[in-house]
Amino acid sequence: MKWEEKVRELKNSDPEAYAILNRIYKYYSDRGTMKIPSSFNERALSYMGVTAPSKNNASLKMFKEQQIIKFFNVWTGEGTIFNSLRASRPGLKLEGDAKHLQKLIKDSKKRCDFCDPERYTPEDSFGRIKGKFCITAANIAKYDAWSSLLIFKKHNPLEFSLQELSDYFETAFKWFNKVYQKDERYHFPFMVWNCLYKAGASQIHGHGQLLMTREFPYAKMENLNSSVAKYKKEVGKDYFSDLYYLHHALGLAQSYGEVKFMVSITPLKEKEILIISPEAPSESNEAKEVIFKILRCYVDVLGVESFNLALYCPSLKSYGYPYLVKIVDRGPLFINTADMGGMELYGSSIAANDPYKVIKSIREYWI
Ligand SMILES: [Zn+2]
Repeated sequence: MKWEEKVRELKNSDPEAYAILNRIYKYYSDRGTMKIPSSFNERALSYMGVTAPSKNNASLKMFKEQQIIKFFNVWTGEGTIFNSLRASRPGLKLEGDAKHLQKLIKDSKKRCDFCDPERYTPEDSFGRIKGKFCITAANIAKYDAWSSLLIFKKHNPLEFSLQELSDYFETAFKWFNKVYQKDERYHFPFMVWNCLYKAGASQIHGHGQLLMTREFPYAKMENLNSSVAKYKKEVGKDYFSDLYYLHHALGLAQSYGEVKFMVSITPLKEKEILIISPEAPSESNEAKEVIFKILRCYVDVLGVESFNLALYCPSLKSYGYPYLVKIVDRGPLFINTADMGGMELYGSSIAANDPYKVIKSIREYWI
């Protein structure tokens, strides 16, 4: 990402987008440098997968000129630092990763509770909601008073069709409405899909988490709501419209019918994308298609093995807010290191993947 160039272009070509950029973000780019002792040259290059360095060690330039781009969203508090060199580190994918993954999924099928959910999972006090390709179950160790599972019929979580994914959302909303019918105090729906264990799933078998909460939404959404309201009050404009306008001007966003999506410049972690839909994904074919195509592109083209998908919904009592879907890659399954460390928890997120490469892959996949 040639950030300085992008900002210059934006300033000349689209002053409105440039104004939004400076209203929403603080940012800078710089170069980090270092000295590498000759005794370390070969080893340093091998860490980057360079096994046959050029004679003049031109490859060492990548260490000596590391481009850093830092963003901070002053409204939401999201912040990310990009360093593309980090993506070049070898060992992030193991040889034969795909084979390992298939074996893991196949082996886990031998004694899988979720393959027979009606026998081996608890049900909600009102029973189960059954979709064509999924079924609900109570969460045995609840996150909240209303906390259930959406168990997919397919064991392999990475195998899903548009029809199946559509059914997951439709069944989820039937569950949200059922809970609301039972207890109107609970009117904030929330859904997450933690795909495989790097994303926090304890079971390999494909499943999402369904939640309903009362009084106020979950912390991250409540924080976002406050930021959006503050933006409206102080700027007089819709935050999401401005965010999309800016990302579109930067070449990082696209729309499909009424649905908009953008690869964020302040991702929580790798390849985070934000999808905005005026209608619930259970109702909108466009939203279903966008989510499906992006997920399939992540899995099939970008090699994502483990991801989190979160669905932010407006309250079931009011309809003035868009539906937001966030998807983030949680890194390769077969390396021991966690993708998030102290920086992500207490500092700023560190990202390697260039958002421009991510949107390019999605566009190519789309066509
Ligand atoms: Zn299973």
